[in-house]
Amino acid sequence: MLVLTLRWISSKQIDPPDLPGIWGDLVYTFYRKQQSHRDREEALTSIIKRYQQSSAALKDAVVIVDAKDRLEWWNSSAEELLGLKPLIDKSKSILNLLRDPRFIRYYKRRHYQEPLELTSPINEEIILQYSITLFGEGDRLLVARDISRMKQLEQVRQSFVSNASHELRTPLTVMRGYLETFLDQELPRPILRGLQQMEQQTHRMEGLVRDMLMLSRLESTRHIADEYPVDIHQLLKDIKRDALILSGDKGHKIELLLDPEHDLVGQDNELHSAFSNLVFNAVRYTPAETRILIRWQVSQQEAVVSVEDTGQGIEAHHLPRLTERFYRIDESRSSESGGTGLGLSIVKHVVIRHGGQLKIHSQVGKGSCFSCHFPLDHVIRLENPSSPPHND
Ligand code: ADP
Repeated sequence: MLVLTLRWISSKQIDPPDLPGIWGDLVYTFYRKQQSHRDREEALTSIIKRYQQSSAALKDAVVIVDAKDRLEWWNSSAEELLGLKPLIDKSKSILNLLRDPRFIRYYKRRHYQEPLELTSPINEEIILQYSITLFGEGDRLLVARDISRMKQLEQVRQSFVSNASHELRTPLTVMRGYLETFLDQELPRPILRGLQQMEQQTHRMEGLVRDMLMLSRLESTRHIADEYPVDIHQLLKDIKRDALILSGDKGHKIELLLDPEHDLVGQDNELHSAFSNLVFNAVRYTPAETRILIRWQVSQQEAVVSVEDTGQGIEAHHLPRLTERFYRIDESRSSESGGTGLGLSIVKHVVIRHGGQLKIHSQVGKGSCFSCHFPLDHVIRLENPSSPPHND
């Protein structure tokens, strides 16, 4: 019986031999265990197969890379979008196949909150959005999505806004020219008032067109083209001077607290526009004599430009929407104050283009703090720093 049992165990035969007594029970129990093991194996194989079939059917390229950066598995879209070759590329290093330095930098960073946009390595007309997820013990799941169509539509929208704004500039300049000439004449009161209002509105429209053009330029690329050291001390002092003029009789108390040892690296016209938007908003949306603090600080983790006011603050539910185009808390107050509704949207884009992030904290009744956080690779240490922490 033992021989029969052992022969059955080592054979491929599934049905158990018909044995009497305890040997029969033993063989049957073993048979049941083997059967359930087989069922589980089949179920797992079917799950893996279904998973692979569904990933293979995805339009997005899906690639699994092991902890040593070797290609383990990919779907057919990865062959079409990334040019991976079936079988031949298995176990090759992904960094030898996707060699764009921007991809390599992104891949090695190991924190992937933001996706990366690049053209496909095999077709310049395809724009891919890469995102990576870490799993297991250092393995990576790479997904590349074709976003060419979305980018094309975005481009059409941007060039429409840009062209429309551009076209509006000439008629506005002509209108303003005539209005200024009329306003120099002796005119009956009602006509004079009408013309003054027309001039004011033309001025507003010019501001709107200027901001729309700026925003569409900022949106056209995600990163600044060239960067150079920006004299942040002078830039913030100039903004303070202009803000005091804007404040006029309201007598806001504007203070500067500047790190004396560092400058920022970037595009000074963009940074000027971003920081002045924040400081001018603090003047426009806070009562007379409010204290406003402009700060430039560099720590071991980041560099921050912040504008803090002690105005009436902003209710929490407005905060997430504040950087949306034309989002305003109080429509009448904002247009009265001369804002275009695009200011914070411009700030957000400028900061992102400099690799940073805009954060907004506010408490009703206490005030608001708008801070622009930049990575340290956008900071340089000054060779001849000014005297320590610069207060003005
Ligand atoms: P606007 O051109 O209307 O100023 P922004 O995008 O610059 O547009 O600001 C959006 C809205 O955020 C403003 O309309 C205003 O209500 C609010 N806001 C901005 N800065 C402040 C601030 N420092 N204190 C209170 N409210 C503010």
